[in-house]
Amino acid sequence: MTGRLYGVGLGPGDPSLLTVRAAELIGKADVVAYHSARHGRSIARSIADRYLTGGQIEEKLVYPITVETTDHPGGYRGALDDFYEEASARLAAHLDAGRDVVVLAEGDPLFYGSYQHMHKRLAHRYPTEVVPGVTSVSAAAARLGTALVEAEETLTIIPGTLPEEELTARLASADSAVIMKLGRTFPAVRRALERAGRLADAQYVERAFMDGERTLPLAEVDADSVPYFSVAVLPSKVAPLDAAEPEPDGPGEVVVVGTGPAGPLWLTPEARGALAAATDLVGYTTYLDRVPVRPGQLRHGSDNKVEAERAEFALDLARRGRRVAVVSSGDPGVFAMATAVLEAAGADPYRSVPVRVLPGMTAAHAAASRAGAPLGHDYAVVSLSDRLKPWTVIAERLRAAAAADLVLALYNPGSKSRTTQVGLARDLMLEYRAADTPVVMARDVGGPTERVRTVRLADLDPAQVDMRTLLLIGSSQTRLVQRDDGTEVVWTPRRYPED
Ligand code: SAH
Repeated sequence: MTGRLYGVGLGPGDPSLLTVRAAELIGKADVVAYHSARHGRSIARSIADRYLTGGQIEEKLVYPITVETTDHPGGYRGALDDFYEEASARLAAHLDAGRDVVVLAEGDPLFYGSYQHMHKRLAHRYPTEVVPGVTSVSAAAARLGTALVEAEETLTIIPGTLPEEELTARLASADSAVIMKLGRTFPAVRRALERAGRLADAQYVERAFMDGERTLPLAEVDADSVPYFSVAVLPSKVAPLDAAEPEPDGPGEVVVVGTGPAGPLWLTPEARGALAAATDLVGYTTYLDRVPVRPGQLRHGSDNKVEAERAEFALDLARRGRRVAVVSSGDPGVFAMATAVLEAAGADPYRSVPVRVLPGMTAAHAAASRAGAPLGHDYAVVSLSDRLKPWTVIAERLRAAAAADLVLALYNPGSKSRTTQVGLARDLMLEYRAADTPVVMARDVGGPTERVRTVRLADLDPAQVDMRTLLLIGSSQTRLVQRDDGTEVVWTPRRYPED
């Protein structure tokens, strides 16, 4: 009979936060193993101390390195792999001899724990039980006394060891977040919080439920004083019961945000963060409906035709100190609200209102990806709507693009009230391009009624085109290719033939 392996969570520090099961198992174990750095002190060992009997074999698993450099031929990874192999072999020897082994783990064993390396190597070979523990995440929230996540909020847990850009993106799009593994990563974490606009919300918890515990706003923390046993917390944004209508803190601004052509998969982390941070959302109702509802946030929906009024309305709110997100689909600078806002912001009384434009994925790129790579070479983007420019100008531009053999991405091709443009554009293009030039008709790309098809230019039927459709008309080089699985792909070679 082999012994049993136990991965035992000890909680964050205070021995009274250990589970009853953990205490029982530690008391009964033949062997108690724990990891430590080369200095040999083990926080896990000290938390478990009062439950040890004194007659047990103690296995110290001493890391050969922690953050320093190594001359191991496999580098840092190689040195650690050797260490884990050797440590698990030591535990296996006890298990083979029939001894029960408890591996102590600060917090929870399966949450960024050293125990995991033993588990991976041993759990399939020996009967194993994992005893969960209170993580530093719960411990920190308890010490702050604020909710971590409420209602529809999501919690993001981030190792501070990620690159700063990655930290920034994760934080920008997070609701609540906990950043682990501070210490020497602290300056980068602080910069990332600042860049994500979240520094003011961030709390710092050091040594929760251990000696020397302290909590303070993260912005007040001296970087040189930060140990590894500390976390940063962005708590729940759901307002407490006694909160009044959210009063804007600091000066207002307008952020023009593109949500991408469809759902959240194509929303950038930056745009998601800006939408969450806004006190007010302004936009066409259809686009506002794509943005998750947040308690306390005001929504000002309107129809799609009053861009200038909407822009002034948003700027007025910002002038009164509100943080306003103007919501567009796709990219806000492509046939959308960014221009209207900047135009209005150029005149009194809005000249001093801060305006930012955040990019989004534009419909042409989403549509192209579904078809293959039709925009792989030079292309032109034209809106077929004659509401804001005369058809003669549109026709001239189509001719110029056709003569230059550019692929064309056509936005706003038609609607219930604009039914002639697609037919006119097709006939005009047929003067320059072959009848079987591929045309991608992409409708509701990324949405629930997505339909993407390729037809011959000569067969382009205006009745099949509506406001949710984008057209991509190939150049003389664009190819339509059948794949073995029966699907078709459209692509434009990057190399153009020489004369
Ligand atoms: N700012 C938006 C474009 C607004 S103009 C962007 O960058 O994508 C509106 C036109 O965009 C529509 O008439 C249609 O041609 C196109 N469009 C937007 N979303 C689309 C989608 N999911 N699928 C196909 N076309 C789309």
